[in-house]
Amino acid sequence: MISLKSARGRKALSSLVGHRLLLTFDFDGTLAAIAPHPDAVSFDPNIEHLLTRLDEYASIAIVTGRSREDLLRFFHSPPRTIIGNHGAEGTSEHAALQHARATCTAWRLSLDSLLETESPDGRAWLEDKTYSLTIHCRVPILLRRIQSLLEQPLPLPQIRVVSGKASINLLPAGMPTKADAVRSLLRRLRCDRVLYVGDDVTDEDVFSIGDTRIIGVHVGKNSTSKADFFLSSQKEVPWLLKKLFTLLVSRKSSLTKRLLRGERQQISLPSSRGSKATRTRASSKKKSRQSGIRRTRPVGARR
Ligand SMILES: [Mg+2]
Repeated sequence: MISLKSARGRKALSSLVGHRLLLTFDFDGTLAAIAPHPDAVSFDPNIEHLLTRLDEYASIAIVTGRSREDLLRFFHSPPRTIIGNHGAEGTSEHAALQHARATCTAWRLSLDSLLETESPDGRAWLEDKTYSLTIHCRVPILLRRIQSLLEQPLPLPQIRVVSGKASINLLPAGMPTKADAVRSLLRRLRCDRVLYVGDDVTDEDVFSIGDTRIIGVHVGKNSTSKADFFLSSQKEVPWLLKKLFTLLVSRKSSLTKRLLRGERQQISLPSSRGSKATRTRASSKKKSRQSGIRRTRPVGARR
């Protein structure tokens, strides 16, 4: 895993310029620092401002574990593309979402009962995001015990159990993952390069795609991640956004300069040598003078 701030990392960023680019970000731990409670997360308005500026040069998408509705409350001017529930919301058909909702409802009853037994003091609690569920717990030993219980065979609809940071995610089986979401966005937005930035276990689905068009960046150094590059911490994400902005703006201004230079050359050509039509008329007059033929003006023509 290589630092994105290294020469190779910077070169990889520069290689994105000039392509139809999709910039994709996870939210918690990536665009916003992790907080003890999902509701306590604070989102820096400067990051929203940078995303808005980048939107002029690339397609911007957020692919989050939160529900879309929950994420929207952090933005004054949200990006055009938001994929919620770890890839499922914003990519799935209505029937698939209804199936996911029914699966979560069935699991919720069992989980309420499990958490009441294992954590009567509320240190572990359940977040229902309609199309997926998350158990939050900041006591590692208790979280591990709950995860081991969830991995036992249970007479419930199939679900995928994925560890998170101080959390366990329960994702209805068969629903699109973050990797499916990125593949779908590549087609839908007609992009040919992707920068994907995330810090979650579910982001590894994207880092593992193995498509040369996708550059993966893990927030935080993690030797087990399949991402190509890493940023040391969430605090370095603004550096990345500014760097992308500088690269994309300088590309646009260099294109504008080339375009203007081309226009100037086109404009200056007639004044120095004359246009083809002007040269043809001049040559015809010269020939007429030499041959003694005088062109007569048609009757009634105005001078
Ligand atoms: Mg995250």
